[in-house]
Amino acid sequence: MAHIAVIGTGYVGLVSGACLADFGNFVTCVDIDVKKIEGLLRGVIPIYEPGIEAIVSRNTGAGRLCFSTDIAGAIKKNQVVFIAVGTPPAEDGSADLSYVERAARTIGQGIDAYTVVVNKSTVPIGTGRKVAGWIRAELEKRKAAVPFDVVSNPEFLREGSAVQDFTHPDRVVIGSESEKARNIMKDVYRSLYLTETPYIETNLESAEMIKYASNAFLAVKITFINEIANLCEKVGADVQDVAKAMGRDGRIGSKFLHPGPGYGGSCFPKDTRALAKIGQEYGESQCIVETTIKVNEKQKLRMIEKIEQGLGGPGSINGKTIAVLGLAFKPNTDDMRESPAIALCEGLVKKGARLRVWDPAAMGEAEWRLRSIRDKLYFSTDEYDAITGSDALVLLTEWNQFRNLDLPRVKSLLTLPCFFDLRNIYKRFEVENAGLRYIGIGKPVLKPA
Ligand code: NAD
Repeated sequence: MAHIAVIGTGYVGLVSGACLADFGNFVTCVDIDVKKIEGLLRGVIPIYEPGIEAIVSRNTGAGRLCFSTDIAGAIKKNQVVFIAVGTPPAEDGSADLSYVERAARTIGQGIDAYTVVVNKSTVPIGTGRKVAGWIRAELEKRKAAVPFDVVSNPEFLREGSAVQDFTHPDRVVIGSESEKARNIMKDVYRSLYLTETPYIETNLESAEMIKYASNAFLAVKITFINEIANLCEKVGADVQDVAKAMGRDGRIGSKFLHPGPGYGGSCFPKDTRALAKIGQEYGESQCIVETTIKVNEKQKLRMIEKIEQGLGGPGSINGKTIAVLGLAFKPNTDDMRESPAIALCEGLVKKGARLRVWDPAAMGEAEWRLRSIRDKLYFSTDEYDAITGSDALVLLTEWNQFRNLDLPRVKSLLTLPCFFDLRNIYKRFEVENAGLRYIGIGKPVLKPA
């Protein structure tokens, strides 16, 4: 078992730290956010993530997991130091590496014995070598010759199923030229190694590229089916049947073929923009990725047009009250970073709507993410409170509790019986049987003859 420090206790740092402790390692999670660490020390989990609370409590109880703001102390005490800080988008779309640099320099200022520095943050290709440079620069300032290796170990967990993803990954990617560091990483992930999880051992640059290429590919796949869905509406095809049949082809696969209001979240938007930027810097434009970014933005705006059309054409949103169910960028998370809900709510308000919004986990986040339109919003207490007195209903995030709405009750609470299902989770006939008008995505506009 390894002794590990994790710098950055956000979605990735907390889940990684807790699960690595569950694998039998001794883990200290550190953060500059004092409130977050104080909360964790009292057992308050700062994120909504199914299953994380039990793992944190089990491992703190067993003495394998602890939380601290003493970053320098944690670096000194542990042989393996993970960097799991944020890499948010800078103004120009590139990844802002200032948090990674700060973490790397702190490592250089602190280590006094051989250390494996593991980069888990999603970073542009070449960052691993920059991290080594920042650490070296700090060691030189101290006139210290402490050996270290940098490893790239990108993370593929999805918010909402992060614990399951971390403990049952499709693959573990280890990018490093040092055999010693690679062997230590195998020790860190020993539990997964024993269950024969595929290990991809490669160099730093390839590991960094694997993460960007994977996220970009998934974003392309979602965007592709969104465009096909839009065409389906025009030609009278049903995208769900199309996607189902496409997905049966093993070369294509059925995942990420669900049309919707455009991808969002903390990863796809920023990682696609960062990859496009890297392509431009190296004179190898990533045209497919660049187009995907544009088409995804268009898809978000298209949802507003769809609602306008469904309500009766240009000007029809003005003066309406619309219930919006789901604000997080996907179910089982409270994360609203780049959620399509933001563009949609702002767009509807701009066209004169008032909104009754509800999300099972993201209401706190919505308070400030939607602050620019705060005076046009009513923060509901549940789905039926949101629907009460609204003209139309827009279902935006496919939380389980929205999958089985009492449709006759919905009909009785809505002024106009318009049901916009932007995740295609309902069948048209069941909604229409309740006396509502159903508008899904990529569905024939006219009933088939
Ligand atoms: P986050 O914003 O939730 O957490 C980052 C944490 O790092 C914050 O708590 C912040 O206070 C802390 N921090 C920043 N600088 C620090 C420093 N110098 N020392 C100590 N703590 C510091 O971010 P996240 O969603 O966990 O993402 C982290 C990285 O992982 C990003 O690069 C992201 O792209 C990548 N990633 C995220 C996901 C995801 O689903 N969220 C999945 C895979 C990869």
